[in-house]
Amino acid sequence: MGARKIYLDNNATTPCDPRVVEAMVPYFFEHHGNAASRNHPFGWEAEEAVDYAREQIAKLINADEKEIIFTSGATEADNLAIKGVYEMYSRKGNHIITVKTEHKAVLDTCNKLEKHGADVTYLDVKPDGMIDLAELEAAIKPSTIMIAIMWANNETGVIQPMKEIGQICEKHGVLFFSDGTQAVGKIKTHPREVGVHLMAFSAHKMYGPKGVGALYVSRKNPRVKVTAQMDGGGHERGMRSGTLNVPGIVGFGKAAEIAMQEMDQDAARLSVLRDKLENAFKQELEEVYVNGNVNHRMPHVANISFKHVEGEGLMMTFNQEIALSSGSACTSASLEPSYVLVALGLGDDLAHSSLRFSLGRFTTDEDVNYAIEAIKKGVNHMRDLSPIWEMYKEGVDLSKIEWAAH
Ligand SMILES: *Cc1c(COP(=O)(O)O)cnc(C)c1O
Repeated sequence: MGARKIYLDNNATTPCDPRVVEAMVPYFFEHHGNAASRNHPFGWEAEEAVDYAREQIAKLINADEKEIIFTSGATEADNLAIKGVYEMYSRKGNHIITVKTEHKAVLDTCNKLEKHGADVTYLDVKPDGMIDLAELEAAIKPSTIMIAIMWANNETGVIQPMKEIGQICEKHGVLFFSDGTQAVGKIKTHPREVGVHLMAFSAHKMYGPKGVGALYVSRKNPRVKVTAQMDGGGHERGMRSGTLNVPGIVGFGKAAEIAMQEMDQDAARLSVLRDKLENAFKQELEEVYVNGNVNHRMPHVANISFKHVEGEGLMMTFNQEIALSSGSACTSASLEPSYVLVALGLGDDLAHSSLRFSLGRFTTDEDVNYAIEAIKKGVNHMRDLSPIWEMYKEGVDLSKIEWAAH
């Protein structure tokens, strides 16, 4: 085991901010009530705490408290938004437009609805990961009820043109749902201002606890309704039954309050560190490619391919001392290249040679310096051992090689 543990995988989950944990603790003990218990102070205290958290969260996204529906996380919020709108608006149509680079919580939900009669268009993205607005508009049909496009991508950090998409939705009278999980609490995300009608997000991607999230549902201009996917008790104004996770919600609220105060300074500091990391690789290593649009990107994310170096192998060279994600996804039988990077047009080789760096509030300058040195060393080491790298250095055109079949 390495002496150091450096965490550069904040897009997978963030650690809880200690101030969040501190706010939660009393709600496991002295204030342990059920927010739905109407007849004693334990219930009232819990309800008050939930109301306060709802306010903190609504403020962060500039919404009304009544527009926040608590869920178990963004996966559930994605499901509630997509299935809930599909059922509620079935008389209007059955067509949904989404994008190939969405999170699985959106794509798998759309796949499921296709089995129940939905007509789903999966848009391509441009090589920089951005959607083509003309293509989006051309995909709209009279039967289109919803456009589902994420605010920022979890693998590349690419931010979609929300305002322009919102205008297209407005023009055609189509609901706009956005998975905001990677953007909320990190950059300004005010759904009403950009024409987003539903937005999913999650506490554990913004220094709050795991297992709690929310769906924003617009209540005016337009008043959106979703069919409940969970029945029993009628909590959350009938849209999501189930006893509320009071400590989790309190932590989520505190995380939102901190984010509101600190996101600008976090973003400024992290973009400097991110750029330092990226520039070090670009300047000191050959054949390094940054994936995704670098001008429309989250400040703390870099997705980088180190050509002819396999990302999973590279991670082994630093002995689990640095936590990162690679552009390879483990499926039951094999290592598949990331579908997001493939959608950007990367070949399997460049996708497999990518690493995702996602910095966070607790990432230090020393962490980044250490990671730069370890990764440079690892890349050089792997390339020194690689016959393909040797051929590349000798000027062999690797695309012309006929590999023996096996
Ligand atoms: C993490 C993530 C999710 C899933 O969120 P959970 O709260 O873990 O269910 C959904 N969408 C995006 C973009 C994510 O990054």
